[in-house]
Amino acid sequence: MKIDFHVHQPARQPDGTYPFTADEYIAYMDELGIDISVMLTIDGFWQDPVACNDYLAEWISRASVPGRLIAYCTVDPRKPGAADEVERCVTKLGMRGIKLHNWLQGFSPLEEFMAPVCEKAAELGIPLFFHDGTPPYSTPLQIAHLAVRHPNLNVVLGHAGLHDMWQEAIAAGRRHRNVYLCMSATPPFAMERIVAEVPLEQIVFGTDGGLFHQPRQPYVDYRFREFETLDIPSETKSRILGENALRLLGLEWK
Ligand SMILES: [Zn+2]
Repeated sequence: MKIDFHVHQPARQPDGTYPFTADEYIAYMDELGIDISVMLTIDGFWQDPVACNDYLAEWISRASVPGRLIAYCTVDPRKPGAADEVERCVTKLGMRGIKLHNWLQGFSPLEEFMAPVCEKAAELGIPLFFHDGTPPYSTPLQIAHLAVRHPNLNVVLGHAGLHDMWQEAIAAGRRHRNVYLCMSATPPFAMERIVAEVPLEQIVFGTDGGLFHQPRQPYVDYRFREFETLDIPSETKSRILGENALRLLGLEWK
C-alpha cells in the first residue's frame, strides 16, 4: 500500500478547464504504484473556498475509478458559516478532512474563530491538516496547540516543519499523541530524525505534487525516490506509506 498524503488539485484555468483530468492523474499514480492520493485544493486558499470545494469534488467525481483520490475541503475559518461548510463538504460532497493554509490564508491557528471548525472536525472524526513550517502563522508548535485545546481532534502538520522547523515539528509530535507529521518537502536528514524520534504511528508521507500543469508530476516521482533512499527499515517505510495513512484517513487496513 502506497498513499501520498499531500497532493493538490491542479489550478483551474480562467476558462474553467484544468490542465489535466483526475483520470490522467490516476494513470500517473498507476505508473508509480501509488494506491491513494489525498487531494487538496490550491485555488481555495485565495479564491472563494466554497466554490473551490465544489470544483474539487466535481473534478474528482469525473474519475472512472472511485476511491483513488480522497478530497479534503478548505474554509475561511473567519466566516461564521465555516463549520457548516465543513459539514456540507463531508456529508454532501464526500470529503474526508480539512486543509488550511494559514500562511497563505493569513490567520493564526490560535484565533478564537478556529474553535467551531476544530469542534466540527472532531465531531465528524476527520483530520485537520495544516500547511506548516513557515512563520509567522504556521509554526509547528503554534498549530499543535490546537491538539491540546481539542484532544479528540487529529491535527496534521502537512510539511513536518519543512526545511527550517522540523525540530519543532519533532517536539510537537513527541508532546501530543494527536499530532501527525506528514513528511512532505521535508529534507531527507530531517525525515530520518523524525522517524527516529517521533512515535511511528504519528508519521505519514506526502509529495506536495499537483502544482505542475501536467499529470506527470516531477515532484511526486522525485520525492518517493528520495523517501526510498532514507536510512530507515523497509518495514517502517511500509507503515508510514500504508497502515498509518489508512488509519488517519479512517480506512481499514486490507
Ligand atoms: Zn501543499
